Amino acid sequence: MAAKQQTGEGTMIVVLKSGNTAQDIEHVCMKIRKMGLRPHVSKGIERTIVGAIGNEALLKVDQLEAIQIVDKVVPIMKPYKLVSREFREDNTHIKIGNVTIGSGAITVIAGPCSVESREQLLQTAREVKKAGATLLRGGAFKPRTSPYSFQGLGEDGLKLLALAREETGLGIVTEAMEPSVVPLVARYADVIQIGARNMQNYPLLKAVGKVNKPVLLKRGLCATMNELLMSAEYILSEGNHQVILCERGIRTFCEFCRNTLDLNIVPAVKKETHLPIFVDPSHGTGKYDLVIPMARAAVACGADGLIIEVHPNPEEASSDGDQSLTPKNFAKLMKELTPIAKAVGRTL
Ligand code: PEP
Ligand code: MN
Repeated sequence: MAAKQQTGEGTMIVVLKSGNTAQDIEHVCMKIRKMGLRPHVSKGIERTIVGAIGNEALLKVDQLEAIQIVDKVVPIMKPYKLVSREFREDNTHIKIGNVTIGSGAITVIAGPCSVESREQLLQTAREVKKAGATLLRGGAFKPRTSPYSFQGLGEDGLKLLALAREETGLGIVTEAMEPSVVPLVARYADVIQIGARNMQNYPLLKAVGKVNKPVLLKRGLCATMNELLMSAEYILSEGNHQVILCERGIRTFCEFCRNTLDLNIVPAVKKETHLPIFVDPSHGTGKYDLVIPMARAAVACGADGLIIEVHPNPEEASSDGDQSLTPKNFAKLMKELTPIAKAVGRTL
């Protein structure tokens, strides 16, 4: 018996000739829809391409190539499609208020590991803003190794984050751990964080893929670059193209740090994808005195931003005190980063 032909989800890109109009693009999209595929337009500086997403077997290449404004139809050979540089040449820019992630400016997200109290959060928010951070981090739902450790303040924590945003104007970054809390977190957050432990929680990735909010996707503890990019693909394939990748250290045989910060991934990922990448030297090292040198290295190797844990009194922190900078050390870090950013053609 002949084996049934395997058909799968894939993406072909339809490259348009220059000088195309909105009408031309709509015509190509309509053809793609008629074939039973989903079109996605990506307008670059150099060229416009339309992705045809879905079952490749339905695509009639001849019909598309017969359209005069179509230059060529080519398959994306990589396992990740929408996140690949082939799909979009130009870097993705993500706007959050007056912050643009992925542009020439380095974005610094800072704040406590966990939201603990109004005083703790507001004091940290004021101090990190004064030092130059543009987004505030703080966990309200915390993924802790032990069920007996502090689990976060839940919605009360989200309310405190909203208060801090009101007072300081800083956009907020906070984690969602399960699909059911995504709508709640999305109501408060400016950026939804997906933690390392959840990088391959596919129902969660699909849930944030349906929301119109940027997502900070942290690399899993043992995840390869390919797995990180495939997880990002889940989010984009649901319609949310605002994804920021984040290197936060991986497990290796090295015992002297909490994790090994894999800065190799920063330039490597830039070749593969148009998405911005941040570095988290706090979780990447686990030690406050290593955070500043590794943050400097991250900016030097091309990271688009940093996420740094800061606590007004690290000794008293409910989580991750060992790796939290004091506001004074955070201000020192920001000062040291300015010339490094300049040396690599960025601003801070
Ligand atoms: C955090 O940002 O506090 C956190 C829990 O990070 P990760 O998921 O990278 O461990
Ligand atoms: Mn933490």
